[in-house]
Amino acid sequence: MSRKPTETRVTRIEPLARLPVFFGLKGRRVIVAGGSEAAGWKAELIAAAGATVEVYAEDPSEELREVLARLDNPNIIHLARPWSISIFKGAALAILATENDAEAQAFRCAAIDAGVPCNVVDRPAFCDFSFGGIVNRSPLVIGISTDGAAPVFGQAIRTKIEAMLPQGLTRWAEAAQSWRPAVQALSLSFQKRRAFWERFTALALAKPNDLPRDEEREQLLAESVSTASSPEKGSAVLVGAGPGDPELMTLKAVRALQSADIVLYDDLVSRAVLDFARREAKTMLVGKTGHGPSCKQEDINRLMVSFAQQGKRVIRLKSGDPMVFGRATEEIEACRAAGIQVEVIPGITTAQGVASRLLKSLTHRAIARRVQFLTGHDNKGQLPPDIDWRAIADDAATTVVYMPARTIKALADAALHNGLPPSTPAIAVYNATRVDEDVIEATIATLADRMADKERNGPVIVLIGRAMEGAAENWAALLPTSKSDAALTAQRSVSA
Ligand code: SAH
Repeated sequence: MSRKPTETRVTRIEPLARLPVFFGLKGRRVIVAGGSEAAGWKAELIAAAGATVEVYAEDPSEELREVLARLDNPNIIHLARPWSISIFKGAALAILATENDAEAQAFRCAAIDAGVPCNVVDRPAFCDFSFGGIVNRSPLVIGISTDGAAPVFGQAIRTKIEAMLPQGLTRWAEAAQSWRPAVQALSLSFQKRRAFWERFTALALAKPNDLPRDEEREQLLAESVSTASSPEKGSAVLVGAGPGDPELMTLKAVRALQSADIVLYDDLVSRAVLDFARREAKTMLVGKTGHGPSCKQEDINRLMVSFAQQGKRVIRLKSGDPMVFGRATEEIEACRAAGIQVEVIPGITTAQGVASRLLKSLTHRAIARRVQFLTGHDNKGQLPPDIDWRAIADDAATTVVYMPARTIKALADAALHNGLPPSTPAIAVYNATRVDEDVIEATIATLADRMADKERNGPVIVLIGRAMEGAAENWAALLPTSKSDAALTAQRSVSA
């Protein structure tokens, strides 16, 4: 069965509890009402964003007086009178600190009438918007919201992000702002401009705490100009997505996905990985499954080449590592034959992902001196006819079988026939490193029947060898308690 590559309209955004928007307040008027300390803190925050803040407090508390005196900010104006309907006109935002429901309701009604977004501090029922946590590397600003669900959790996330982002990024964000006009003035193509900003970003992230220097700007600009006159050339990158868990992608893979014009991906690439693609990138499923409908390899090669010839940056996203059972050579050769620049970003192959989940090394000084990766089927879907059975029967090796589902019985029988001891541990891992990961532990003599017992969905890989002894137990111990009990019970009932 064959199918055509199809463009997929992946829903790029799941439902959002809150829409983060970044309000420009420079030179705008914002009203803050209420006599408590909270009104003072809000005034400080809003003034930091460049607004002129009018604080309406007829009878300010001692704390508010103190805050205002300490801030001593000419853009925070204290008006010793209560708020009234007339003050809303032309205001950018209206904020009230009160405990009084009737006042909150009246304030909100006045704000709605005047078309001014309103917030009553810590009273979500009266709010059009909320204030999130902030990580401030202005002009780089990060807002954090839990939709009121868990402020402490939100705080912890803020702390994490604070720790991740060096203070120096402020300087680089400022440099981006001040360098932008010079870059725009060069009238570079979209691709070249992006190349400039990619270089800029790489520099900023490589040495965030160094001050951006004018010579660096000149150098980056010169590099962009010198290549500006050459015709736009696309490129192709084969990227390893890893077995499923997106955290197993390399930083390079993530960066490549974020620079993609086109992403051509396989069925086995998990949705969570695809979420890293640049939002504007076109995503196309060029799936090849072992047994379902598949796109022809020639169609995939042709697509890669033709998009790259149109000047696009094509990301060919493959499960695991592109260089392991991924037909990478054919794709690389097709690109090179067409003069397309091609690059490979490796990924964690399934065998490695599985070894980590089982807490089992694929090699072992005494019992597994060799690791072999084997495909369970040839291009006709059969067990490859030319397998070296002596190597498979070597009980001092770990054998990893990719695409084992249809041929595991024949493979196991042949391995036994060639002398592999029937007690050799054999383990099947379904949906490795994904949330629905599942494991069957057996021996080479029993695994095929155990796998046939129950139809399971998703990709599966088989590992055979003495180094896998006790793997399922390790795996079960890593699971949350409920699942691990179930898994252990299941194993016990099998081994009984
Ligand atoms: N390039 C990939 C392998 C592609 S061949 C890699 O390096 O991992 C496809 C086979 O890989 C599947 O039939 C299955 O055997 C294995 N595979 C890929 N992802 C898997 C996963 N998450 N869990 C189990 N097996 C997987």
